[in-house]
Amino acid sequence: MSFDAAACIGCGACVAACPNASAMLFVSAKVSHLALLPQGQPESKRRAMNMVHQMDEEGFGMCSNVTACEAECPKGISVENIARLNREYIGASFTSVK
Ligand code: SF4
Repeated sequence: MSFDAAACIGCGACVAACPNASAMLFVSAKVSHLALLPQGQPESKRRAMNMVHQMDEEGFGMCSNVTACEAECPKGISVENIARLNREYIGASFTSVK
């Protein structure tokens, strides 16, 4: 699964396809890729928080489960990664990670 998420090339097709201009598929692919590697564990909570906050700051829209991103992704990145990002983010929200 880590290597599936690692296939993301950052092309932005997911954002372009989304009616909300959400970058959740791209961000979740990066968070999943690193969160699933042993080397990525120490910073996993802080990474999820920081990447979501940066995504919001950049003005990307919210995910409303349209899944057009998955349909358009040339690398077959699954929306399951968005669910993982949400779990990572919620988990981090309950800790004092900044
Ligand atoms: S469309 Fe797929 S490969 Fe391109 S940035 Fe989005 S998740 Fe990554």
